[in-house]
Amino acid sequence: MSENVPCEYQIDDELIECNHCKNTMFIKGAAMLNTAKMTFLGLDWLNRSAVTLMCDKCGLIHWFGKAPTPKYNRS
Ligand SMILES: [Zn+2]
Repeated sequence: MSENVPCEYQIDDELIECNHCKNTMFIKGAAMLNTAKMTFLGLDWLNRSAVTLMCDKCGLIHWFGKAPTPKYNRS
């Protein structure tokens, strides 16, 4: 479980960039959504699986309902 290395991600061949600072390096996280706990937050529509990408620069967390694809091949 060493997935918390910053890297670029894409969805549908579209490179993900931070909504705030336009950074493209993210730290991936899996939100363990417990439906019972999320219901009172109004997030039960997420239905227990979501992927989070935290911007490596400003820390803004982006939520994704489907898994972003890591993009390893750039240096
Ligand atoms: Zn950012």
